[in-house]
Amino acid sequence: MKVARTTADGNLELAEAPEPAIRAGEALIELVCCGLCGTDLYKLADAGRPPGEVLGHEVVGRVIESRADSLRPGDRVVAPHHAPCGECRLCRSGAETMCPGFAENLLDPGGFSERLRLKARAVERTVRTLDDGLADEAAAFVEPAACVLRGIDRAGLVRETQAVVVIGAGSMGLLHLLVLRASFPGARILVAEPDPGRRATARQLGADTVVAPDEFTDLVDAANPRTGADAVFDTAGGQAAFDLALLATRPGGRVVLFAHATRDARVTFDINAVFKSERQVIGAYSGSPAEQKRVLDMMHGGALDPSPLVTHRLPLDRAAEAVDLCRRQAALKILLHP
Ligand SMILES: [Zn+2]
Ligand SMILES: [Zn+2]
Repeated sequence: MKVARTTADGNLELAEAPEPAIRAGEALIELVCCGLCGTDLYKLADAGRPPGEVLGHEVVGRVIESRADSLRPGDRVVAPHHAPCGECRLCRSGAETMCPGFAENLLDPGGFSERLRLKARAVERTVRTLDDGLADEAAAFVEPAACVLRGIDRAGLVRETQAVVVIGAGSMGLLHLLVLRASFPGARILVAEPDPGRRATARQLGADTVVAPDEFTDLVDAANPRTGADAVFDTAGGQAAFDLALLATRPGGRVVLFAHATRDARVTFDINAVFKSERQVIGAYSGSPAEQKRVLDMMHGGALDPSPLVTHRLPLDRAAEAVDLCRRQAALKILLHP
């Protein structure tokens, strides 16, 4: 079968790989589509990772062989790659994505592959069948939208919440906009983004206010004239976005850090912006099976449809081109097809 695997110079190339054989409790799927994600780009840029890896974790597929009671050939499924054990101290305290077992890749070899083996823990905990009415291109967002929902949960927003700011209108920033709108229909959502084209997309997708980051005074004013935003989601990363996030958050509000950072990345901040003003800076990493189920329920119920974020559909043998498009920020979400 064909796979797109990582190269030593940080890109993807087409290669042949043996088809995986399934064992009891497992299933084999053929790929329908797999999203190319910022995490994949981050891994590609990490010089410490050995080449030859098959990335891809935003998987929609069709079951072609099953040795699990819950799946039958023909079932269309989403197959997130990570699952917590559900039993350790971290899992029991709600920190499932910090579970020591969470990092294991439960897809063999990975999403950028014509066929994939779903390991038993994925079949038990993360793989879900899709209703006929749900489009493949929406279902591909179950995994990333669950990550976003986890951050939104951690932001502590309440129904009466008035103002939220999203920094960055790349695919994850825009996905924040859509999941926020689905979760809090009455929230006032401001998006800060330097690129005019992406600002226009944010406006089309329902942002109440869209500004360039250097219009920060307007940003704070627009978020809430007197107090700032209840929560700010930083999907851009780095010092400038962090400064903006603290500035735009009301006293007692939360900044949620969502962007990848390089190993030695640091930011500085005014201690009193946190101490005296009771702001909280929190992280949100990946998504749990419960969050995946909730976003899939939102999609099945019609409250959430991220498919407008898909700008490109490319076959696996053009994976290198997909990476290049994302690196140049010439694409929002790219789906790879077999
Ligand atoms: Zn992802
Ligand atoms: Zn655990």
